[in-house]
Amino acid sequence: MNIGRYELHQIETGRFGLDGGAMFGIVPKTIWSKLNPSDDKNRIDLALRALLIMGNKRNILVDNGIGTKFSEKYKKIYKIDHSKYNLDSSLKKFNLETKDITDAILTHLHFDHAGGSTYKEDGELKLTFPNATYYVQKANYDWALTPNEKEQGSYLKENFVPILEKGKLQLVEGKFEIMPHIDVIISNGHTTGLQLVKISDEKNTLVYCADLIPTTSHIKIPYIMGYDIDPLKIMQEKKELLSTACSDSWILFFEHDVITEAVKVKKTEKGFEVREKVFLDSRI
Ligand SMILES: [Zn+2]
Repeated sequence: MNIGRYELHQIETGRFGLDGGAMFGIVPKTIWSKLNPSDDKNRIDLALRALLIMGNKRNILVDNGIGTKFSEKYKKIYKIDHSKYNLDSSLKKFNLETKDITDAILTHLHFDHAGGSTYKEDGELKLTFPNATYYVQKANYDWALTPNEKEQGSYLKENFVPILEKGKLQLVEGKFEIMPHIDVIISNGHTTGLQLVKISDEKNTLVYCADLIPTTSHIKIPYIMGYDIDPLKIMQEKKELLSTACSDSWILFFEHDVITEAVKVKKTEKGFEVREKVFLDSRI
């Protein structure tokens, strides 16, 4: 897919699993499990889908997956699987290596979004994208440094403090334009200072929804995650995004949906629904 002068591609960085109940909050398992089957530990499979934006001599990556630093114990708990998809092999499809990434936008610093920012070699933490500037909302960085009890398991300093220490972190505040036609939408219902990335030209707009709408199932307004810090706020933010996405025919891109990478939406008397699926790369 092309928007403006940019080429857009999905970059699958791996798969993992989270508790289905936590992913769907108040929705009963009898309902969510129809489209999201769970395993014997009640986990549902989730994607770790980054977005590659190429053009104007830049290779921009939005989020970077869960990374490779987890111990065997946590790999089992979160069912982390890099066998079918991983960052290196997905970038290679576009003749890129991690050193070629010029800009790494992080929607927020939860480990399943920013964990791929660093890796461990001989016990030392290194930056996965040594030539990139990393962009994070200042509000999210500050929030992650002193996390509340609910989120402290999700904000792991090894994923983001090294970026600051190596002088590669660009803290941004509110809306900013990383390049022409690429800007961000701020959301505070899932965590504080999450930024959705929006790429647009005169004809098309694509929004990287991150954890505001992690999968197609979450298009329904009450389908919100137990992880969200402010349920009423996230429902309002979803309504605003989905309303504009309907009226202006925006493409919504999902980070965690194992089947569907992107859709356009419509509004019916039942609420918001998928109008059509959208594929960024041609399907062979
Ligand atoms: Zn999150």
